[in-house]
Amino acid sequence: MELYPPQPSAGRRTEPRRFVFLFSATGGGHRASAQAVKDEIERLYGSEATVELLDVFVALDQWPFYHFPEWYPAAVGLSGIPWGVGFHLSDGAGLVKTVSRIVWPYTRAALCDLLQRHPADVFVSFHPIPNYALSMSLRTMGLEVPFAIVAVDMVTTHAAWFVPGADLYCVPTPAAKARAERCNVDADRIRVTGMPARRAFIEAMRISQSDARTALGLSPDRSIVLIVGGGEGMGPLRHVVRSLARLCTSSRQAPEVVVIAGRNRTLKQDLDRMELPGSFRIEGFVDNMELWMRASDILVTKAGPNTLAEAFIAGLPMVLFAALPGQEEGNVTHVVRNGAGIWAPIPRQAARAVMQLVEHEEKRHAMAAQSRALARPNATEQIARSIWSLATAHPQIIAASPPTPDVAFVR
Ligand code: UDP
Repeated sequence: MELYPPQPSAGRRTEPRRFVFLFSATGGGHRASAQAVKDEIERLYGSEATVELLDVFVALDQWPFYHFPEWYPAAVGLSGIPWGVGFHLSDGAGLVKTVSRIVWPYTRAALCDLLQRHPADVFVSFHPIPNYALSMSLRTMGLEVPFAIVAVDMVTTHAAWFVPGADLYCVPTPAAKARAERCNVDADRIRVTGMPARRAFIEAMRISQSDARTALGLSPDRSIVLIVGGGEGMGPLRHVVRSLARLCTSSRQAPEVVVIAGRNRTLKQDLDRMELPGSFRIEGFVDNMELWMRASDILVTKAGPNTLAEAFIAGLPMVLFAALPGQEEGNVTHVVRNGAGIWAPIPRQAARAVMQLVEHEEKRHAMAAQSRALARPNATEQIARSIWSLATAHPQIIAASPPTPDVAFVR
């Protein structure tokens, strides 16, 4: 029987460092961030690293957690109002601790078993909800395995990101750092890195806009407007599209409009059935968002943190038509105060804002420059390097204390 994790052999370590990234497909952003950092670690360290992505709620295999990804679209329904209430009511370090401790007896065995089945040199969480329990599990198991949290909400960061016990907290903005400090995280464990984004977004900027348009079959000389509602096609996207279509029919400078419905099949069907001008194109989930952004002049979007970080790299001026109450509220302020976009939560207002940007090139270019100034293209590399250094700073991974009676420490 072998102790968990395996005892390192004496001398220089030759086997790859193992990283387990815990995320959940509640929205598209947590996975996109985890995937971006995984790709970056593999680019930087090649065969010296292996990275496993785990949807923590699905992998827990315990009711009701494994339903969370499929329940998420309904949970953020009704304009996200119930979600926002839940966010604010639970947003306190003491509350997170109390709730996690109430749930802990129920999740403890499943979570410890999960960590045991996926041995790692470093565990990294990209989701706020499991953090307190993860930290407690590692302690209960007596594992001195470094634990990092990559907080992927830009400004309004919930207290659950900043539970005690992690070795490293990567945060996107100084505002998120200030929040972490208010939750009593030591400043020297916090790194303000920016939001992770796939390297493809940086590389796409080396392609010319006209080449990107040719590759996607888009018009070479009209303005291109890209409309997205996150990975799940959220917010009043249908109404924005309908309002914009109306304005386009009466404009001489009508843009070509691409609507990306993401994983929302009902939305895609509804959009396909709408009577729209020929210059409107509807897509489902795309896996080359970087190319669509490169080809576009204006982004119309929900204020999702990943989409915003990607749009900053692409230098896109934005019209924000929705924000999830709670965690995305601060994103709106971040974009608007920095002059990178317009907040237009009423569909007609959003459509008018788009047409203004189409018609006023100077305004559009000024906003594009402000958007580009917010980009943190090195964020992913910084996060990857910080996580890697946790693995190399702890070369001796040992089971620090004997197993607790209810957790099997063998594999
Ligand atoms: N996305 C994608 N293809 C699509 C729609 C969205 O790859 O068809 C990606 C998008 O580029 C971003 C993520 O999904 O990386 C959405 O994350 P965000 O934080 O903006 O919103 P969420 O989906 O988490 O609400």
